Order: sequence, then structure tokens, then C-alpha cells
Amino acid sequence: MVRQREVIAELPAYKQGATPSSADVFKLSSNENPFPPLPSVVASVVEALSTIHLYPAMSAPAISQRVAEKFGVDVDNVAFGAGSVEVAAQLIQASAGTGDEVIFAWRSFEAYPILVTVAGATPIAVPLTADDAHDLDAMADAITPRTRLIFVCNPNNPTGTGVTRAELERFLERVPADVLVVIDEAYVHFNRDENTAEGIDFFRRYPNIAVLHTFSKAYGLAGLRLGYAIAQPTVAANLRRVAVPFAVTDLAQRAAVASLDAEAELGERIDQIMAERGRVSAELAAGGWKHSDSLANFVWLRTGAQTDDVNAALTEHGVLARAWPGEGIRVSIGSTEANNRFLAAMATLQPTP
Ligand code: PMP
Repeated sequence: MVRQREVIAELPAYKQGATPSSADVFKLSSNENPFPPLPSVVASVVEALSTIHLYPAMSAPAISQRVAEKFGVDVDNVAFGAGSVEVAAQLIQASAGTGDEVIFAWRSFEAYPILVTVAGATPIAVPLTADDAHDLDAMADAITPRTRLIFVCNPNNPTGTGVTRAELERFLERVPADVLVVIDEAYVHFNRDENTAEGIDFFRRYPNIAVLHTFSKAYGLAGLRLGYAIAQPTVAANLRRVAVPFAVTDLAQRAAVASLDAEAELGERIDQIMAERGRVSAELAAGGWKHSDSLANFVWLRTGAQTDDVNAALTEHGVLARAWPGEGIRVSIGSTEANNRFLAAMATLQPTP
């Protein structure tokens, strides 16, 4: 039998939410944008199709320029990957190997422990507070001389909680200057809370910050795979060194440029998703369901021991959500129709005290 690394065989596979079995089933399990791509974005992809016999531009020149301009940074500060999950993998691989530690909150984005283990490093998962928020004091306590990287997912997936500016400042006082702090802002566009720390502000003020962004959520390009980090040029250069060559397609690069051209229109869609989040949250609260005030495009229900029952009711009503038995359920904000279906399913149940 061939010999492979034992830690890999023991890893849980990254699970994708189930595919809807019919048009009457709503998938609210992957925090996708419910709106279809804009015609201008589709046109840019169709145009790029004529050159798919060629390799894509690895330096991603046009989108690098646009992202750099948007944030007032240099193109040397920006590094891309096939989705921000690939950039997260690059950040880990460039920072941590055997014997090194990577700290993150738990529960958080499920790929973190998998990517850290694949890199040969040791995942250090620090439990969230009782309010499902990052416990930054405990995360600072977990720092050792072996710590090479820390993820702060803000807003956090799956709890929708945020880290404030003051909390992050206090935390960073305790982080050694040679440890990279990655602020994963996959859901940042759905957060208008003024006290929440903005990664880009911290990037400007601290030399050991990397900001992680994606075109998958607010920009609705999950299927094309494009994410990026904004980091110091030396860090960004190392990300390019570990990147899988040609993983980022020209189709994705063109669609992202077209999306930045359409920010006003996409912004209106984000406003609609946020209005729906307000409506859904208010109705859940009125029904007595415990949930955090989400800063993202999903809600997190603390259903505890009732999780399996709630998930069964959702499935029965044609709603696919993401459940963690004994903990809670994350439900993406979808179309009005999908959200209504979700609320109708919840109305058939009573929260247990
Ligand atoms: N970070 C967080 C917190 C996420 O929830 C996700 C996707 N679920 C990602 C990163 C990765 O998204 P993508 O690879 O599509 O950019």
C-alpha cells in the first residue's frame, strides 16, 4: 500500500452544503449571494471565453490595479488566489510549517484547521465566548514562541459576531511583531456597525496585518473563485511564491473588474440583503429564538439540543441550512421567497427554554 501522511487520512473533508433536489428547495447553507450575476459581468466573462486556449495572466494586472486603487495601496501589496480560501492556504503555507502553531477562534470558518494541518502546522482553536464572539484575551493567552499566524474572522462565520476596533487594538498590543494577524473579512460588506474593526485601517497602522477579501459573497462571484490578501510587499511576494500557478482564471479576473465597475448596483443588492436580514432577525426574535445580531449575510441560531429537530423541520419545508448538532444552525439570507420559507418553517416550532 502506498504510504501517505497519516494526518491527512484523519482529516475531515471540507463539506459543501447539499445541492437542492428541486426548484422548490432553497439552499441557504453556503452564504451565497441570492442574486444572479449582472449582465455586464456575464458579458465580460463571455468576452474572456475567446482566449481560454491560453493560460491566464498570473500577475492579474488589471484586477490588481483596481484593487490597489480601491484601497489606496500599491499593487505589490495585493496577492490573489482561487477564492479567499486559497489565499488563506497561501498565508498559512508561507508562515507556518512543522512545529509551528496557528491560532484561530472556534467555532469559525471550517477550512482553518484543515488548511493548517495540511501545511504540517498545529491548529490552536480557542473557544468563542458565551456570546459566540472572539475571545481575544484567551487567543492572546494562547500565543507561544511557536505561534506564526493568527486568524481573526470578522464578522465571524458561522456566528455573525464582530470584533470592535478597541478590542482588536488591545489584542494587537499582545501579539509579537513577527506574528502575522490575518483579518478574514469575507463578510465585511454586510457590516455597517461603526465600532467594528476594519481590516484595511489596521493594515495601515500595523506592519503585521494581512486583510483577506473575497469576490464570492457581496460581489456574487462564488462560482468563479477569486479572493485576495492585502499585506506588506514581502508577505504578498511570498504568497505569490506559494500560489498554485495559473489557479486564478482570466474569466475570474475579468468578472471581478466588471463587478468593481458595477459597485453602485451591487451595493443596492447588498442593501436589500441587509434589509432582509433585519426582517428575518426581527421575526426570529419575536418567535423567541436565541440568535446573535448578525453582521453578515446569514443568521446564527443558538438551538443547542434542539438543533436536529429544527434542522429536520427546515429540511421538511425545503430549506437547506448548515447545522452543528448540539450547537446551532446557520441560515444564509436568501431571496425574499427563500427567507419566507425559512420563517414559515421556524413558525411551526417552539424554542425550548
Ligand atoms: N473566509 C470565510 C470566513 C468564509 O466563510 C469563506 C467561505 N465560506 C471563505 C473565507 C472562503 O470563501 P471563498 O474561497 O469563496 O473566497
